[in-house]
Amino acid sequence: MKSYLRIVLGALMLGGVLTSAVWAETRQINLYSYRQPFLIQPLLEAFTAQSGIKVNVVFARKGMLERIKAEGANSPADAVLTVDIGRLSDMVDAGVLAPVKSKVLEANIPAAYRHPQGLWFGLTTRARILFVSKDRVKPGEVASYENLADPKLKGRVCIRSGKHLYNISLLASIILHKGEAAAESWLRGLKANLARKPQGNDRAQAKAVYEGVCDVGIANTYYMGKMQTNDKKPEQKAWAEAVRVVFPNQAGRGTHVNISGAAVLKGSKRKADAIRLIEYLSSAPAQKIYAEQNFEYPVKAGVKLHPLVKSWGDFTPDSANLSQISAHRAEAARLIDKTGFDH
Ligand code: FE
Repeated sequence: MKSYLRIVLGALMLGGVLTSAVWAETRQINLYSYRQPFLIQPLLEAFTAQSGIKVNVVFARKGMLERIKAEGANSPADAVLTVDIGRLSDMVDAGVLAPVKSKVLEANIPAAYRHPQGLWFGLTTRARILFVSKDRVKPGEVASYENLADPKLKGRVCIRSGKHLYNISLLASIILHKGEAAAESWLRGLKANLARKPQGNDRAQAKAVYEGVCDVGIANTYYMGKMQTNDKKPEQKAWAEAVRVVFPNQAGRGTHVNISGAAVLKGSKRKADAIRLIEYLSSAPAQKIYAEQNFEYPVKAGVKLHPLVKSWGDFTPDSANLSQISAHRAEAARLIDKTGFDH
């Protein structure tokens, strides 16, 4: 009995040694993702098949930065995938990102959508557009963010909380282009035009237009696609049907866009493999799949759009570098408080 146990234990130990030897040889990286697994899993599998690098995903929707900071030098994370310039900038400010120099990324991603020192890279864009009532607003009547502060829209505009990342970035872009004083009077004009206190998410603004609560809502483009294709909640198709998509400021600086993006962590011991993953995500075939899944725009030029996204029309985006816009986020947040925008 004793010798039998010894043989079993010996076999188990040998097995363990072999397993860890194989494990050490498998190239793998750890990715912290704010993006939902269904959006990225097929792409990551294709990357692994092509590169031999396995990607372990930790789905961290809330508190990703806090987690990375708490893990400190011991953080197993090599790269992050997240949405909004605000979140990427918070990581820059926290000093957790590594500068990356990559000819592939520089070729695939326009300069406006990547950090000047390579601390983050945009992979998709989304425009902050207007959902305008088809019935109650004539085509061309509302054509810019500035129009939203026009007294003729009194009581006709809906928006989510001014403190939300999407609106902070939009306001930061207005501060960049027009200065803080002009941005403040714009914000006060917009507040005076609201049909109700800022509330709900982006889709709730389309719902409000559908219900006649207001005539103009502010939202990100991909929500239009999500509503138009929502078989689980078909009522959202009616919300989408009630609105016309307007890309603001086409006669001027262009429509404000934001990004989803990726970054390599300073503490990563596998930076080359992490960069390879981001390079893969910026390649044409991956860009098409990645952008299509969430009705977003690829950052790489020449990549075909999802037909539904295409159907909303072509537009000129604001060409300002997102890191320049992001530099005004703190002022934007202060203006939201100062004007009591949400109250
Ligand atoms: Fe969103």
